[in-house]
Amino acid sequence: MRCCPINNYLFITRHLLNSVFLFISFLFIWSQFFKNKEHLLNPSSPVRTRVLYGITSGVLGGFLIPFIMEDKGYIPVDFQNFAILISAINGGFLSSFITGVVISFFSIVFWLINYQTLLMSITILSISISCGIISKCSVQKTKKWICMISSSLILHFLFMNIVSSPVKINGTIYKTFIIYSILTIIFGFIIYYLCEYINQSSLLFMKFKEDSCRDFLTGLNNVRNFNNLFNDLSKRAVERKERLSLIMIDIDWFKKINDTYGHPSGDEVLKQIALILKTVCRSFDIISRNGGEEFSILLIDCPNRQAIEIGERIRKAIEKHEFILSIGKKINISVSIGVTTYPDIVNNVKQIIKSADIALYEAKHTGRNKVIPYY
Ligand code: GH3
Ligand code: MG
Ligand code: MG
Repeated sequence: MRCCPINNYLFITRHLLNSVFLFISFLFIWSQFFKNKEHLLNPSSPVRTRVLYGITSGVLGGFLIPFIMEDKGYIPVDFQNFAILISAINGGFLSSFITGVVISFFSIVFWLINYQTLLMSITILSISISCGIISKCSVQKTKKWICMISSSLILHFLFMNIVSSPVKINGTIYKTFIIYSILTIIFGFIIYYLCEYINQSSLLFMKFKEDSCRDFLTGLNNVRNFNNLFNDLSKRAVERKERLSLIMIDIDWFKKINDTYGHPSGDEVLKQIALILKTVCRSFDIISRNGGEEFSILLIDCPNRQAIEIGERIRKAIEKHEFILSIGKKINISVSIGVTTYPDIVNNVKQIIKSADIALYEAKHTGRNKVIPYY
């Protein structure tokens, strides 16, 4: 927001391009560092994230201050506004205001306190507040961006008049301001497009990451995620000398359900089983669909006796449950369960899956609808 002398318009363009590239790098780095859900920014993100975004955008805006040159003329060339605009559009009022405060702080530190610096800080804060307010409006994001650019240019223009008036204002200054405004609008939209592109890419990245771990039908962990989690948890169990129990579940006579009521009804049963498992198990247990009609539960630091109890609770809950199919039929089903625990029952963590499978096999071959612990 500093008044800056410009002798030719190439300077403005060059300065603007530098700022734009800096902003693009910032957006890219932010998205690389904070690729998880918590840090994907929007105005309803956690306060911590919005404050962090406001500060980092402010520091970025602050870094632009030394690039502003001074000369005899007074023409406003300021692209710190982009830092406030980005902060407002992504993080809302809080981020925008914090960015304004940080940039003002940098300006005062860099230029020291004088009449112009104070005016500049007031203008920066006014832009951050106006953009913050615009971010709250329930209109399309693109319209918000247009309003933010307009308001920052208007406030900028007012500032230029206050600082330069009445002596230094002349036609050249206005002409330069018009060029500056046009470039701000053009590059503003380039930044906005890239900002949206990066946000969309991060969202897609998260969605694909999530999808690659989830079973599409039940929403439980899929077998790939089960394997990864099992490797992590078995390592942890050995290192911390903790127990790790595994429950393997297989639906009895599931093929008959498909054959009698159709495949979609079979799918409904699988979904309802997933819900029962979520209800019966503890929030930190790891429930997976390991394939077809087979499920598993990894119980962290759970002794064998308790794992058998949980297995029995699951078996009873499923036996009692009336599965209502969309074709209007109500059916009852049962499951067979195998249970094992490291190190209570198997002393090598690698034997967990195999031993639970053996126990499950035994449950099947000794009449089904039962829980068999490996021994
Ligand atoms: P058992 O008591 O011995 O386990 O008998 P079962 O019929 O449950 O076992 P079997 O292995 O013979 O059949 C499993 C069936 O599960 C066969 C397959 O069509 C069905 N299935 C596998 N995946 C899905 C799925 O995603 N949806 C539906 N509806 N059925 C599935
Ligand atoms: Mg099976
Ligand atoms: Mg089965």
